[in-house]
Amino acid sequence: MLEISRRGSRGLRSRERSRTGGKGGALTKKQRKVRAEKRPPIPNIDLILETAGHLAGEKGEKIVRALVVGELTDEDLAKRTNLQVNQVRSILYSLHESRIVTYRREREENSGWYVYYWKVDPERAIDYLRQHRMEVLRRLEERLAEEESKIFFACDKGCTRVPYEEAIGMEFKCPSCGGTLQPHQNTAIINSLRARIEKLRRELA
Ligand SMILES: [Zn+2]
Ligand SMILES: [Zn+2]
Repeated sequence: MLEISRRGSRGLRSRERSRTGGKGGALTKKQRKVRAEKRPPIPNIDLILETAGHLAGEKGEKIVRALVVGELTDEDLAKRTNLQVNQVRSILYSLHESRIVTYRREREENSGWYVYYWKVDPERAIDYLRQHRMEVLRRLEERLAEEESKIFFACDKGCTRVPYEEAIGMEFKCPSCGGTLQPHQNTAIINSLRARIEKLRRELA
């Protein structure tokens, strides 16, 4: 987060004064619009939206949804999403860090400012999602191994659930409600972990 806000305040600002001369690559407003309208649909958009949600919450999803139409500047995005430009930028940087959006810059004809055009990078987004799922899978497998290899103890109210070794340390007394820690059946937990693992493995296959 720190990294992002630091970059947000200088590096990738949406408009930067051009320090070099030359007119190459500058587009008029009309040309820009055409470019945005001609983009083909984004493959796997649902998965990409899910990823954006993981990375940047609802606002991240909103921004990616807005980018479905094609390349947009941060200011266009702010208008279309009703978010503040600063918010849009910080979300774009975090999505960019995970490489699900990319940008291209063009020099504005008259002002000489650089304008950044953002778009979704579907392939990278899918790569990112795949890695994220592999990480989740790894954690679930670790958890399953723990559930399968240990005996757990819990209190009636459910505030504490710990492996046997830890329950001994607590003298089988719940530190929050004072209730007795009893052996806890974890078949349901194991089954639900297995189901989630199966589902992820299928998605990753
Ligand atoms: Zn996920
Ligand atoms: Zn308790």
